[in-house]
Amino acid sequence: MNRYQEKFYLHVKNTPYYSLNDADQEFIKTQSLHYRFSFQEVRELVTMSIDLEMWQEQPLRSVWQDFSHKKKVMQRAREYYESIKNRPHSYENFDMSAHAEQKLNIVTVEKEHLGLGMCPVASPKTRCCNLLTLDAVESCGFDCSYCSIQSFYNQNTIAFDMNFAKKLEALELDANRTYHIGTGQASDSLMWGNREGVLEALFAFARKHPNVILEFKTKSSNIAYLLEYEVPPNILCTWSLNTPTVITNEEHRSASLHKRIESARAVADKGVKVGFHFHPIVVYENYLHEYEAVYKELLNTFSPDEVALVSFGTLTFIKPVMKQLRERNFKSKILQMPFEDANGKYSYPLALKREMFRHAYESFVPWHNKVFFYLCMEEHTLWSETLGYAYATNVDFERDMLRRYSEKLGMEYLFN
Ligand code: SF4
Repeated sequence: MNRYQEKFYLHVKNTPYYSLNDADQEFIKTQSLHYRFSFQEVRELVTMSIDLEMWQEQPLRSVWQDFSHKKKVMQRAREYYESIKNRPHSYENFDMSAHAEQKLNIVTVEKEHLGLGMCPVASPKTRCCNLLTLDAVESCGFDCSYCSIQSFYNQNTIAFDMNFAKKLEALELDANRTYHIGTGQASDSLMWGNREGVLEALFAFARKHPNVILEFKTKSSNIAYLLEYEVPPNILCTWSLNTPTVITNEEHRSASLHKRIESARAVADKGVKVGFHFHPIVVYENYLHEYEAVYKELLNTFSPDEVALVSFGTLTFIKPVMKQLRERNFKSKILQMPFEDANGKYSYPLALKREMFRHAYESFVPWHNKVFFYLCMEEHTLWSETLGYAYATNVDFERDMLRRYSEKLGMEYLFN
């Protein structure tokens, strides 16, 4: 092996090179040996090749052009990659049959602390509602390609805390303030039903603390426990919704759109207040048209007094999640998007966000001023540009949200 070959294998060591198919590995090696690419260039070629394969687009090797100078070669490769990445993609010929289902390992463990804290993705740089999140279960059994949970936990291990109920029972809260606590961040709130007595413990917690707005956020249709038992009035059930196209191709193992809406309808029929999160809204060919169909279905299926909230948000990535996605060797178009810096994270350009959020909000005119609408984890400026109103601070946002939710749930709002 010559000196550069040795160098090449050192270059690829810290890249997902070996997650590539054989043909791409061979191609990158051949070109690297020929052009003596630097570590940065090799890593870039690997990342571009991983992405093109994940997106099921033409690989670099099928559009490669040779030039006398490597700068030109890399420039052409980047131009091709960027042109594919930044155009609205289509899921029309996207083949999910090769999607590798991950085997789940479900364990019951003794956790030291109760997982209660600030929303893990909240940021002072964005307009945030100061949600408190309660980890009833750790990690999720659904497999949404864009989800940041995968970078927090060991993705294949679902952990139940054997002392969750005891810890919750012992939790002391200020009875003179209204709290908003959500259980849908570290895992799905309903997919496990009452496994390990989780829902029973949460119902008891809600009864003991009538000043807590307890939000179950879910992509599941597992509502058996809610239909069987009386649901405390301070529990809010919210479904994350998306178009059938995104659900089929990017939200693996989760309930279909129809099943989610049907479940929300059944729970609302029991008098439980519901809500809907459109997060992430994903850009692809014809996306506005497909989202509009979902918005219309909600307007036709629910009346505004049954619905406490509708929220909008979009894809926002941190580097560890992007790295994990590229190492997973699976099929997804979720990273095939134009990126812009969003407060240290990666997200769509503001122009696309204005388009999607304005379209979403304008699709719910009949519910304006009757249902609480908000943007989740977004730039301050986008609020007035898309919803026509904005909050000066996160505390103002939180207070108005809690006041509106309390009204809808028939609770007294305790100003804090
Ligand atoms: S707005 Fe979204 S990200 Fe921010 S705290 Fe609320 S739920 Fe979390």
